[in-house]
Amino acid sequence: MTGENQKPVHVIGGGLAGSEAAWQIAEAGVPVVIHEMRPVRGTDAHKTEGLAELVCSNSFRSDDAESNAVGQLHWEMRHLGSLIMAKGDAHQVPAGGALAVDRDGFSQAVTAALEAHPLVTIERGEIAGLPPADWDKVVIATGPLTSSALAQGILSLTGETSLAFFDAIAPIVHFDSIDMDTAWFQSRYDKAGPGGTGADYINCPLDRDQYEAFVDALLAAEKTEFKEWEGTPYFDGCLPIEVMAERGRETLRWGPMKPVGLTNKHNPTVKAYAVVQLRQDNALGTLFNMTGFQTKLKYGEQAAIFRMIPGLQNAEFARLGGIHRNTYLNSPKLLDEALRLKADPRLRFAGQITGCEGYVESAAIGLLAGRMAAAERLGRDLPLPPATTALGALVNHITGGHIETIDEGPRSFQPMNINFGLFPPIEGVATTGPDGKRLKGPAKSLARKQALTARAKRVMAEWAGSAQSRAAE
Ligand SMILES: Cc1cc2nc3c(=O)[nH]c(=O)nc-3n(C[C@H](O)[C@H](O)[C@H](O)COP(=O)(O)OP(=O)(O)OC[C@H]3O[C@@H](n4cnc5c(N)ncnc54)[C@H](O)[C@@H]3O)c2cc1C
Repeated sequence: MTGENQKPVHVIGGGLAGSEAAWQIAEAGVPVVIHEMRPVRGTDAHKTEGLAELVCSNSFRSDDAESNAVGQLHWEMRHLGSLIMAKGDAHQVPAGGALAVDRDGFSQAVTAALEAHPLVTIERGEIAGLPPADWDKVVIATGPLTSSALAQGILSLTGETSLAFFDAIAPIVHFDSIDMDTAWFQSRYDKAGPGGTGADYINCPLDRDQYEAFVDALLAAEKTEFKEWEGTPYFDGCLPIEVMAERGRETLRWGPMKPVGLTNKHNPTVKAYAVVQLRQDNALGTLFNMTGFQTKLKYGEQAAIFRMIPGLQNAEFARLGGIHRNTYLNSPKLLDEALRLKADPRLRFAGQITGCEGYVESAAIGLLAGRMAAAERLGRDLPLPPATTALGALVNHITGGHIETIDEGPRSFQPMNINFGLFPPIEGVATTGPDGKRLKGPAKSLARKQALTARAKRVMAEWAGSAQSRAAE
């Protein structure tokens, strides 16, 4: 090992992402220092001093690697020697098709593995501002509850609108589940705007009865409460739709559901009483978000209520809406494709602060950031995993796949779980079953998912193999 290689990479935050990043760095033969502020300083959600603490549910979600996107991500992480997956597997508790873990056993095992690694040092204490200038390679993985001193340091480099402290998530729908015999493409007043075509939105029309029924359903539905420490962060004109409905039955019709400047191409002589608009969310055009529909409705209520909207009666949701305390970057603008801050490339980001969502996704981005940091330290090239893999699809969402809003309004990049809408479409999926009959509905959708995961496994195995041969050179 050369002297340069002996300089450590500094990982700030020993959560899901930081623990995984540190493990990958150390396993590549590069020393690493983890800086974790607990127990010296706590967060509002963590309760222990263990690394990789799960702050809420104990589930890593579906472990089905054939027809579920997060199951595929599990498979890829195991294939790449993930510490989080290894300890999750070792501390599994029964949970049907999901991977759920004994949270204390899991966290203790991750902590013990890192403590025992000869190239890992763990320092307890807050990094209260930008890292010292002589740390030449840093991975910042401080998560949704990043301490405010560090958040302010990041803001000083990136500018005020670069870091959000709450997400405001509108539901996202798979395009192929929208009924385009009812909905139609059109921008309000056919305005093209920068980067638009004049037909950028999908419009779903409601008549008066449908609108009134929809408002009634919103008012009656159960809402999720903010935690005491979150406050009630209504900001940027981003009121939840149910709060708008509470302010008056017509409020939504004057807000996100206003019907003006639109002509229903399926029924041009009848003016819609209200219109729900959906805007393209990813560059692939497979996902559309419900414009202005951020909500605190309980997840269980959302799908049924949104399927009352004509055109969305069979909608499949890539994610449901929510508003949470969540510190995250406007990554598509601020990070390069190797997850480094353009304004200061010695700082690389990982985990939920990059705009992914969930334990598994955060650890996955930690895994990639760790490998990237180690490769950089060792002077090796590490191409990005192709977007046809789950890991590649996720990082592509963060750094490039999401398209910015085409009109003026709050920035549109919001955290995302892994889902099949982030994968590039696939050709040549079987259209008939073993009985020779044409596949329809769920069977057709299953065939597509299975084709996507089979492709992802093949491509991931190639990518991992080529990374390994590079390391052996
Ligand atoms: C209340 C809440 C509930 C959630 N529930 C779920 C759920 O049920 N399922 C799910 O999949 N996801 C859930 N999430 C999201 C979850 O937090 C993330 O998915 C995951 O923990 C993020 O991993 P991370 O490594 O990016 O951040 P974390 O796991 O939060 O790790 C960040 C670490 O950085 C440390 N840190 C922060 N600032 C500093 C600093 N300045 N210096 C040193 N250390 C610092 C923190 O102490 C923490 O240990 C929840 C999030 C919150 C806030």
